Order: sequence, then structure tokens, then C-alpha cells
Amino acid sequence: MNDVLFFNGRWTTTDERVLGVEDRGFQFGDAVYEVFKFLRKRPILAIDHFRRLDRGLREIDIRNPWNESGFLRTVDELLDRTIFDDGIVYIQVSRGEGERAHFYPDNMPPTALMYTRRFKFPDEVKKELGIRLITAPDLRWKQCQVKSVNLLPNALAKKRAQRKGADEALLVGDGEVREGASSSFFVVRAGRLITHPLDEHILAGVVRDRVIGLALAAKIRVDERPLREAELFDMDEAFITSTTMGVMPIAEIDGRVIGNSRRGEITTRLQRLFDDLEMSEMSQQRRETTVSDSPPRRR
Ligand code: PLP
Repeated sequence: MNDVLFFNGRWTTTDERVLGVEDRGFQFGDAVYEVFKFLRKRPILAIDHFRRLDRGLREIDIRNPWNESGFLRTVDELLDRTIFDDGIVYIQVSRGEGERAHFYPDNMPPTALMYTRRFKFPDEVKKELGIRLITAPDLRWKQCQVKSVNLLPNALAKKRAQRKGADEALLVGDGEVREGASSSFFVVRAGRLITHPLDEHILAGVVRDRVIGLALAAKIRVDERPLREAELFDMDEAFITSTTMGVMPIAEIDGRVIGNSRRGEITTRLQRLFDDLEMSEMSQQRRETTVSDSPPRRR
């Protein structure tokens, strides 16, 4: 269904074909993106997403068209205009439009867009039963901390998972388990969480960061270290995290049942804690959301 679209400073709808054929996002994948969730027209963790967008743009030397308050004003206006109550906001910033050439001029005016999409978030049954994963080789580039629009390896890995009756692909490189094709990955072993450290092999998931904070506050130890693929045979629970899935238990990896085939105790606790955090974000008043939102745990 078509809805409101912010495009380079003006408001239109997704009916309008706005993008130039020589936009560098289209021609070169020269762009970064963000996705965040909204519930009852309130943005969830929008500041965390803005900060990651800003870091990604800096890393690839694209000017951020927004500062934090300008971004939040655009988000508020978008959510005032949307016809949906709940859904996701997709944001993309490319280097801009110009005659096709690998060399690009310095300081090109970026292309900035933002629009809403309806989204069916997982229901209680799905959140209890969890999802199936397959392992797949990590064929992505070496700067996975940048949320680049170049998602071909991710899309191919997810399609491979779907063809095998699974929901997500777990990307493995050099014998180490990195993350899901569109999610962060956690294992629970002996009451502790294990997840890949923040480096160029993974995206700094917004939910990952918040879940680590919630776990630490609940006195659950967190080891941020690479997990060898062989260790996938030795775990009590596993879950993925993402903006659209929240904390989602993993029922199977490559056809092997995880834990005792039921949602694990620690996964359940963290799922509830994260759901509560989203609910409290949703119920904040607009001024509070934009001005005194609790900062992310760390960069
Ligand atoms: N890792 C990858 C590769 C992703 O694409 C995503 C989300 O799209 C995530 C992790 C989860 O990030 P977030 O929690 O910010 O949604």
C-alpha cells in the first residue's frame, strides 16, 4: 500500500517515481540505510538508529543531511502523516545523483529519503515457537559495520534459507559464526550469553546493544567473542535480535533442535525485558522521546 514519502526535503507519496537513474545509490550501491519500528505512531529507538546512520555516513564520506534534532523532526512529521498505526520506517541516504563515473566529486548533495511501510511483527505464538536457521558462508564485504544497501549476499543467503524451509541464514566466515543475514546472533551457554564482538564482521545491531544492556542489568554475564562453528553443537539456547523480530528464539539450526526444543528461560526473560522497553518507548510523550531519550549503552 502506498504511503507518505519524504524525498530531499519535500513530502510526496511512494506513488511518485522520485529517483534519478544516475543516482549513485542505484548505480553503485553508494548509500546507507536504516530501518526502525513505530508503534501507535511513536518511533522506537529512533535516536539509536540515527546515530548508526551518522556513523555509517561518516565511514563512507557522505554528508549527513540531518542533525539529530532535524532527523527527529522529520520522523515526527512522517509519523503524523502516515496512514498506518504500526509499521517500519525505511531511510536511505545516497551520495547523490551525477553523471555515472567511479570517481565522484567531493561534497555531492546527498539523496535523502524516508518512508513508512506496514509490517506484520511476530505474534505471541511465533515468539514462543521461534524460527529455523541454516548456516551459510559469509560472502559479504569486509566492512559489515556499515549498513550499506549492498545486500546481495544477504538476500541470496536468505533465499537459500527459505528454499530449505528455514527463516534466516546464519553467516559463517573463517570457521566463526558472525551474525544472521538480517539479524544479530546470541547463544546461551551455562547461564551466559555469547555474541560476536563489535568489529568489521558484523553490524552493530540496535537491538543487540539494548539486549546486552538489559542482560547486564539483570546480572546475566555477556561474553562478546567470536563463536567457533563447532560450538554450535554445544549450547543451551540461542536467539537472534533485530528491529523487526525483537528477541526471537531459535528452534533449529541446520535441522538440529536447539536446547530442549522449547523457548529457553534466558531467551524468554530477555524477550520480555526487550518488549517492555519497546512499550515504554511507545508510551513516552513526544517531547520526552526527542529530548531525554535514554542513550544507547555505548557506541
Ligand atoms: N545484522 C544485520 C546484517 C542486519 O541487516 C540487521 C538488521 O537489518 C541486524 C544485524 C539487526 O540490527 P537491528 O537490531 O539494528 O535491527
